Amino acid sequence: MNTQLYNPFEVLQRQIREAARILNLDDATTEFLLWPQRELKVTFPVRLSDGGVRVFHGYRIHYNTARGPAKGGIRFHPDETVDTIRALAGWMVWKTALIDLPLGGAKGGVICNPRLLTENDLEAIARAYVRATFQFLGPDKDVPAPDVYTNPQTMAWMMDEYESLLQTHQPGVFTDKPQQIGGTEGRRDATARGGIFAVREACKQYGVNPHGRFAIQGFGNAGQRAALLHADVLGGGKLVAVCDSKGGIYNEHGLDPDALVTYKLKTGSVVGFPNAQPIPRDAVLELDVDVLYPAALENAINADNAHNIKAKIVCELANGPTTPEADSILYTRGIHVIPDILASAGGVTVSYFEMVQNKSMYFWDEKTVHERLKEKITKAYQTMIEAMEEKKVHPRLAAMVVAVARVAQACKLRGWV
Ligand code: GLU
Repeated sequence: MNTQLYNPFEVLQRQIREAARILNLDDATTEFLLWPQRELKVTFPVRLSDGGVRVFHGYRIHYNTARGPAKGGIRFHPDETVDTIRALAGWMVWKTALIDLPLGGAKGGVICNPRLLTENDLEAIARAYVRATFQFLGPDKDVPAPDVYTNPQTMAWMMDEYESLLQTHQPGVFTDKPQQIGGTEGRRDATARGGIFAVREACKQYGVNPHGRFAIQGFGNAGQRAALLHADVLGGGKLVAVCDSKGGIYNEHGLDPDALVTYKLKTGSVVGFPNAQPIPRDAVLELDVDVLYPAALENAINADNAHNIKAKIVCELANGPTTPEADSILYTRGIHVIPDILASAGGVTVSYFEMVQNKSMYFWDEKTVHERLKEKITKAYQTMIEAMEEKKVHPRLAAMVVAVARVAQACKLRGWV
């Protein structure tokens, strides 16, 4: 199978159909949930620092807003398409519903390669994107955050552009901002921390050693934070392998997370890290570990490699890393998957905390953020386990059933379907 041809939007629709079947949803509700409510496609020219003008294409997609304002990240990535953004927007709907946040789901993206652009170019693109989309955005309408290759600095530029256009202070229109301009404590490591809280619950549920070996596929923000926090939050654990887009590294005695993150930030890759053996990038997924964190892009675990996964727990910090075929294979092989809509929901959960703090103009301390995050993730984990037992389905389907039921109910209450 050529996994490149796997369209994430088709995966999303398949997941929705399966959940709708289990819930006996009527045809109109199912059809409504299978599609985004609103899609904005923008094309905008930007003068780059080399003096030339380049035309960029971007999207902002509101998948569903029945439960609250649209919420979800903005990516800068060369491979984005309308269908990747649709799928990612849909997964935000199920994420916010599963955690029971009063939010809908959205996603945005600009097709560009940040590796080939300067800091000034990225600022110009961020600002131009906001000028093209701002009527779609707002603290009670649609609140973006960072995603792949965007970060708090991107949000700062975007917020500034939005405020300039509206001539009013509106910090709640973006989340994961720098703390000096309205960001919250605990947002930067929230995705990884939320995933690790879920791992803790899964270890208890399935009798897995929380202090064993773990590996990370993908070493962006979520992957790096997972490396730094795993042993801290769980009280132990050994990081044995990591990869990024350039290659993988392994050390059976353990890699030092602090030194590794410093090395990655300095050199741009984990490849060449001292005292580690180089291994092929995808080999990281197939190692004998207690916990595996896929923290890169979609379709990493697919029908080609699912039979070789040896981890006891797979904690999906990435969005959509496992294809439906791989899901069934992992389930029948007794591998415990913590699905992305739960495992990676820590980010949007703390984004929601940031929105609450921006509305009240009163900020919480770090401990409060961590405690409230733990509460939300733990509760969602238990709800998923109950649905698994009640419906006799695999964890992703159980999580989807809970989320789809909540969104369908909100649509019905509003009289939409
Ligand atoms: N981009 C992150 C995600 O996929 C965070 C979204 C948010 O905070 O709105 O969950």
